[in-house]
Amino acid sequence: MASIRFLGAAGTVTGSRFLVEAAGRRVLVDAGLFQGMKELRLRNWEPFPVPPDSIDAVVLTHAHIDHSGALPLLVRSGFRGEAFCTPATADLARIMLPDSAKLQEEEARYANAKGYSRHAPRALPLYAAADAEAALERLRTLRYGRPREVLPGFTLRYSRAGHILGSASAMLTVAGESGDPIRILFSGDLGRYDAPILPDPEPPPESDFLVVESTYGDRVHPAATAAAELEREVLAAVARGGAIVVPAFAIGRTQEVLFLLRELEHAGRIPSLPVFVDSPMASDATPVYRAHREDHDTQMDALLDRGVEPLSPRRLTFTRTTDQSKAINHVHGPCIIISASGMATGGRVLHHLERRLPESSTTILLVGFQAAGTRGWRLQNGAPTLRMHGKDVPVRARVISLPSFSAHGDRVEVGRWLDGAPRPPRRTFCVHGEPVALAAQAAGIAARGWEVHVPVHLESVELG
Ligand SMILES: [Zn+2]
Repeated sequence: MASIRFLGAAGTVTGSRFLVEAAGRRVLVDAGLFQGMKELRLRNWEPFPVPPDSIDAVVLTHAHIDHSGALPLLVRSGFRGEAFCTPATADLARIMLPDSAKLQEEEARYANAKGYSRHAPRALPLYAAADAEAALERLRTLRYGRPREVLPGFTLRYSRAGHILGSASAMLTVAGESGDPIRILFSGDLGRYDAPILPDPEPPPESDFLVVESTYGDRVHPAATAAAELEREVLAAVARGGAIVVPAFAIGRTQEVLFLLRELEHAGRIPSLPVFVDSPMASDATPVYRAHREDHDTQMDALLDRGVEPLSPRRLTFTRTTDQSKAINHVHGPCIIISASGMATGGRVLHHLERRLPESSTTILLVGFQAAGTRGWRLQNGAPTLRMHGKDVPVRARVISLPSFSAHGDRVEVGRWLDGAPRPPRRTFCVHGEPVALAAQAAGIAARGWEVHVPVHLESVELG
């Protein structure tokens, strides 16, 4: 009997982990951390729902921490199998998992300094750098479109998902009770059509069961392209004579912004401004983005073939050291500062916001999702001051949201992806969404005449 158990991202957007059992073996598809609200983050500390040493293999769809960040935790708790991913995902995981461990260690140090801890007398990190290193040793790479038997009776095939570099949909084919193969397709996070750098999501291959993400199941992104929005805001900022600060995820969003800035500059639509990428992780990830040609769309390919550096606006500087970062404070007049974190919850972008928010000539561009309660969300909602480093900093800057930069397809785009399926799956499961988005996505899928289900946390479903 084959079955699937929803160990995360059921009724919520983070903690993607789906357990497929067949022929007496267990494969975990994605090993994500829960993020966001405290009650969700506490789930990371609970014992894993099945013993990690009983899991035979892990399959990752992409490197985002809510899909890969629990792998060090599993390895630390006894998982000894192989963890499959695409080559670009492996390269990004080599940047992201050690960084995640560093954040966990910092959080524990902070808890100790503040004197609160769940592990009295001393807080321990969820996992440490050594666990991240041990997790990286489990990684095995598999290219798109190449089926591979990852365990006896389990065949894995990746297709492009267009969400971030290396992102994939994963098809697992397993033996059902009667011996007939059962095909289970995991969409992974699905990107947008006609987005820069990455190719469109590939149409889904024929499957018996489909697990589909639903982040924006209730939303339709604006029709304006990211390039047009960015051009308009850069020109407005230049007219104001101030800096543009872009809080951005170091991986994905930063490279997309760089790509569009270079394009707009090259087309003569914006002046060539000093551009600072102030994030060591973004500085590490950008060459990885450039190197993985198997993940590029035809436009990116054509530029590289012509010897153009598609991610390099003319006056680009990557800053790594704190001194280099501080030197940006002395730059006057129009410039662009791209820095993490994307929701201004921490990181170097805080220093730039502290320096630039009080100036009315400054523009803040919000290019990513801003979760409720974060500083980015407060800015988006017109907060008159922002608390940083123990001070209330007045917000005189102009704050602009650019929703067209989303890395997730909206309901129309996911609908377009579903349209590509050769025939309806026997059953479709909606995951990776807040309840309202999940309900809307499920209603849309039911309206196609497909059988659809929204699983709850830890629900188990028999597949036959
Ligand atoms: Zn993702």
